[in-house]
Amino acid sequence: CGIVGILGASEVAPRLVDALKRLEYRGYDSAGVAVLVDGTLERRREEGKLRNLDAALGKNPLAGTSGIGHTRWATHGGPSTRNAHPHMAGRVAVVHNGIIENYLELRAEIEGFGSVLESDTDTEMVAHLVNRELDNGSTPKDAVAAVLPRLHGAFALAFLFAGEDNIMIGARKGSPLAIGHGEGEMFFGSDAIALSPFTDRITYLEEGDWAVLTRTSVEVFDAQNAPVSRGESKSSVTS
Ligand code: GLU
Repeated sequence: CGIVGILGASEVAPRLVDALKRLEYRGYDSAGVAVLVDGTLERRREEGKLRNLDAALGKNPLAGTSGIGHTRWATHGGPSTRNAHPHMAGRVAVVHNGIIENYLELRAEIEGFGSVLESDTDTEMVAHLVNRELDNGSTPKDAVAAVLPRLHGAFALAFLFAGEDNIMIGARKGSPLAIGHGEGEMFFGSDAIALSPFTDRITYLEEGDWAVLTRTSVEVFDAQNAPVSRGESKSSVTS
């Protein structure tokens, strides 16, 4: 299972799939991508091998330069297209590795405010909670900051937002997540191998960290929301 996110300078869908292929070694049962197409979040998701996702994108391409991608190893909800990531609610798309342990409690809350869930995953709760914060007037950054402390369990997350072509947010607690620094591009990946086609300049997030990326900036915060500097290292992985 793996995560990739790209704020790119060129078409992002084929690059997301390329990165996901490098994460195949971790195992997965389905895969998907979400891309901002003229400000709108659109996704393609397929059960089985990445070639199925590749074929779906071949038939119905997604044109855009910002996107997130995922290979899933199902823990909550069987392996199926409707349970494949990215999950979306309103203006939010999210990919997730790990488990949200208190998802049943969150599910009851979300259903309580009238939202209809479309998957059996723990992950979908995260999209709804963040979207609710946006609906209440929060910025993407404040919305994620408000929701992260409410998530129990282990996770790596990457978020993309409708109408926000130059922001991507990621978080790490119990599952790995790294930032890749490009030239006018910025990346998230589960590891440096995923990002090796794009950059060898890597920042590893530490436990509890979360990060706000644009194409030209990186802000990292710790679990207490204090700004931190995690430095940059040169990956020895070559593509
Ligand atoms: N718990 C999530 C799910 O079942 C994420 C699984 C994963 O790590 O791929 O959809």
